[in-house]
Amino acid sequence: MKEYSKNTHIDIGRKRVYFLSDRSFYIDGSLFYTPLSRSDWREFAEDAGDGMVLVRTRSIIIESKKHNILVDCGIGSSGEAMHHKLKDDNVLIDGMRALGFEPSDIDMVMLTHLHYDHCGFAIDDDGNPAFENAHYYVQRQEWDDATNINDLTETSYLPETYSGLMKARVLKLVNGDYVPALGIRLWLTGGHSAGHQTVLVKSKGQGLLFTGDIVPTRYHLRGDIHCAFDLFPLSVLTMKKQIIKLAKKHKWYLAFPHDPDVPYIKL
Ligand SMILES: [Zn+2]
Repeated sequence: MKEYSKNTHIDIGRKRVYFLSDRSFYIDGSLFYTPLSRSDWREFAEDAGDGMVLVRTRSIIIESKKHNILVDCGIGSSGEAMHHKLKDDNVLIDGMRALGFEPSDIDMVMLTHLHYDHCGFAIDDDGNPAFENAHYYVQRQEWDDATNINDLTETSYLPETYSGLMKARVLKLVNGDYVPALGIRLWLTGGHSAGHQTVLVKSKGQGLLFTGDIVPTRYHLRGDIHCAFDLFPLSVLTMKKQIIKLAKKHKWYLAFPHDPDVPYIKL
């Protein structure tokens, strides 16, 4: 496995993929690297104290001749709402500007799913879409589940981070696999949530897959580790194996939303 920790972007054929982060947060390591005990996950992951681990909130921007596509929207102010200890390391919008993008330059937003740590900046403080010129792509299943929260899912969804999208008529609800633009494929995976999707970027024979929470960090490539918030762990395992097989076969890069150190790798 080759790990890439320094690059701000990579060219995938004619498209350029930028890596950026929002603020990091801390959660219990045994919930993030389930079902390992603290002594087991400490063999590879850093213990930030009290058994907590650092979780990054990474996004990518896919730039092509026709589109600027943002994948996932960070944690925004949801971190405080969910009472997380946060690290003041990055802010998504500042990172975008540093790369030369204004929010108004984004014309498509792909949300892997609607958990609070993936759509923190989807909506602005007034309840309007933060990316004023963009349509937002979400799986219909995910939208249905996020608007019908139950006892088990209420710790993962914060309706104020996405409900304004429907009112503003910027939502594109898709059913299953979907190609929103040339060389971009939304791939319905289920697993983490029933409506979870990953985003595949392809151009000129090269490929990069943003894995979403099927593989939140490079450590989760292991079949015996998953996340306590996965609603369907066996589906996560099946999809993970498929992703690894396809990534090896097609030489895709894999980009992770939560890896503490490494935005992307090649197997
Ligand atoms: Zn997540």
